[in-house]
Amino acid sequence: MSLNERVQEELEALEAILMDDISITYNDEGCADLVKSTIFPSTANEVDKQYVCVTLEVQLPENYPDCKPLIKLKSPRGLDDSTIDHLYREADKKCEEYIGQPVIYELIELIRENLTESNLPTCHCAVCLYGFSEGDSFTKTQCFHYFHNYCLTNHLIITEKHFHEEQEKLPAWKRSSEGFHATCPVCRESIKCDVEELKTALPPKELENAQKFELTKDLKMLQEKMQQLYVYQKNKGGIIDIEAEENKLLLITNSSDNSSSDNSEDPGPSLVNNISEHSLENDVLGRNQRLFSKYSTNR
Ligand SMILES: [Zn+2]
Ligand SMILES: [Zn+2]
Repeated sequence: MSLNERVQEELEALEAILMDDISITYNDEGCADLVKSTIFPSTANEVDKQYVCVTLEVQLPENYPDCKPLIKLKSPRGLDDSTIDHLYREADKKCEEYIGQPVIYELIELIRENLTESNLPTCHCAVCLYGFSEGDSFTKTQCFHYFHNYCLTNHLIITEKHFHEEQEKLPAWKRSSEGFHATCPVCRESIKCDVEELKTALPPKELENAQKFELTKDLKMLQEKMQQLYVYQKNKGGIIDIEAEENKLLLITNSSDNSSSDNSEDPGPSLVNNISEHSLENDVLGRNQRLFSKYSTNR
């Protein structure tokens, strides 16, 4: 049997077993050169209980299976870098072992076994930055991102509150007619979750056991250094002050109104700059004074 026939036989068998879960790309000469499959842990088709997945890409060189295929693991979900490195090493070992024999099904099974064993997100919660420990209640969003229920609830409560506060500031005609809708804190996809139910979740274990935050001498020094840097950057115009920017716009409108009504010379942008510089100066001075008084009362 020629090499090509052997590959063809392997791929036909794969298609028969995996059906829609596999896609094969052929090159111009009609030879298969890329096999792709998204692999999930075995959870007896309970999709809700699949917390990790990865897409395996197998690039077939011309003389496959007499030489190793090229493996790529793409779009990992719920897996951290060390787990992915481990999968690469295991896949490479399997390929070495199977030189001269079909290996794609073996690779898929190997990865599936590994995913089933570690079917708990090994990444970190994007809200508290702690991992997921046994017993932590967590949510897998429709976009395959993970959060402790405790963290997700807090995030949703705060974003909803912020949304309503922002809406209050707007004139009625500018307010959203759709109301608040929850989005994923990582990718902003719409998410559906029952906040009332999530609210009952306990804080994540790692967060509970974490050392209490303490403002040490070093941290205080760092704070002071950063404060100076902030004032320096603000003075240099490196930080956009939203309030000052809004006032700038107001001034521009006023100055053009005046010039059109009394035909006096348009003072142009220099006035705007002078005033905004002045207000920036006041702002920084005011901030320093506030800081100073806070610092002295704290002492
Ligand atoms: Zn968290
Ligand atoms: Zn997401």
